[in-house]
Amino acid sequence: MVKPFSIAIHGGAGAFQRKQMKKEIELSIKKDLESSVLAGHSILKKSGDALDAAVEAVRILEDSPNFNAGRGSVFNNKEIIEMDASVMHGKKMTAGAIAGVRHIKNPIMLARDVMKKSKHVLLVGEGAEEFAFEHNHQYIKQDYFYTTIQYNRLIYMKKRDLFELSDPEYLNNKYGTVGAVALDQQGNLASATSTGGITNKRYGRVSDSALIGSGTVAENGNVAVSTTGIGEIFIRKMVASDVAARMRYLEEDIITASESVIQGDLKSIGGEGGLIAIDAYGNICFSMNTSGMYRASIDINGNLIIKIYSDD
Ligand code: ASP
Repeated sequence: MVKPFSIAIHGGAGAFQRKQMKKEIELSIKKDLESSVLAGHSILKKSGDALDAAVEAVRILEDSPNFNAGRGSVFNNKEIIEMDASVMHGKKMTAGAIAGVRHIKNPIMLARDVMKKSKHVLLVGEGAEEFAFEHNHQYIKQDYFYTTIQYNRLIYMKKRDLFELSDPEYLNNKYGTVGAVALDQQGNLASATSTGGITNKRYGRVSDSALIGSGTVAENGNVAVSTTGIGEIFIRKMVASDVAARMRYLEEDIITASESVIQGDLKSIGGEGGLIAIDAYGNICFSMNTSGMYRASIDINGNLIIKIYSDD
């Protein structure tokens, strides 16, 4: 008998407004979300591993300029793109992460290599890239990641000395961090998260997306979580591990635990954003305190959903 499996992905949370969203952008984003979730799901269907499914789903979003991860990443205050990513596999709670890489096409694949091929969990900057080139990742020029829209966004933010997740001028141009969580037929939970960070961030700044416990968590028998939002606050709140702890110690269900964190403690300290989560039975939860989060899932019955706004 086929055991339950499911997958959920996100492409970032933010203050999206229906009337400002251009139809063609919306369609293109939905198309990417669909390709991503289908690719991950097809791995799970063939009895593949949850982490491989999550990484493949994220890789597809990294390759699209529609998201703030891989190609299309945002610029820091020195006009450089620096990317962060992390993965976790729930079986033995193994994890890998990288921060501040500049020349790696798919940061999420490098994070998985850190998990599988190094003795460490988190590598940063030049050290992470040296490790990457030793493990067959190609050197990619910064030009590949560059998009005019992100460059213009940096100039706009710099002029106003802004460092925010979303601002009125760009509501219709929200480009988000990406992530995926999956349950495979072997009962493994896994999570993967990747980002370019926040426009006009200080050079050297590290996001929650690189940090196990804040942006990414997976524990077999419990839950896998990937987050998106203002990293500084997600780090302080240790959002992903807080959801996992609530489920483990308080025996809360996935929705109660996620909503308690996102709508409660996190919001009360100014944390805007959301998360995706899957529990050990394959139940999926999307939780956000923003007006939208690009998201998609295929549940244990094979139902596909793709959504943008919180009230979709
Ligand atoms: N969490 C990311 C960061 O702080 C941003 C996002 O999720 O959009 O870099």
